[in-house]
Amino acid sequence: MSPLKKIDLSVVLGAGRELELHQAISVPDFGSFSFPAPAEVALIARRIGGGVELEGIVDTSAAGACARCLDDVRLSIHLDVHERLDPDSDRADPLGESNVLADDHLDLEDLVRQLIDSAVPLVLLCDDDCRGLCPSCGKKRDGVCRCPQPDPE
Ligand SMILES: [Zn+2]
Ligand SMILES: [Zn+2]
Repeated sequence: MSPLKKIDLSVVLGAGRELELHQAISVPDFGSFSFPAPAEVALIARRIGGGVELEGIVDTSAAGACARCLDDVRLSIHLDVHERLDPDSDRADPLGESNVLADDHLDLEDLVRQLIDSAVPLVLLCDDDCRGLCPSCGKKRDGVCRCPQPDPE
């Protein structure tokens, strides 16, 4: 019952064949985000130089709370993936240090998680103009709150 999604890329790295990857990858909570459904991953792996090129898409949606009003927010995430992985490189590749590719095995779960983590916003808002919660009544300032608004200074 191992949930590990290690993909054997030896046919790509050795024989130079293309490999299609269609996987549903569950993504653990990240910061204030959770991921209710697994990410849909559709990638093609092909050999390029001594490494592997991954091209395709990752689709998922993140759930979280607005940083100002705490409303539930659902965020669709669609990533166009174009990554190059080298098995024995320690260059300044953002994914290079994490061993997502080791011994011809791709840690797809880790790769997808990193791609999604770098795509979600640092601060989640229900709306860029969200005015947050009223300090008097604690309700949302837009709509529910009926308190007199302080004079703008
Ligand atoms: Zn909000
Ligand atoms: Zn109020």
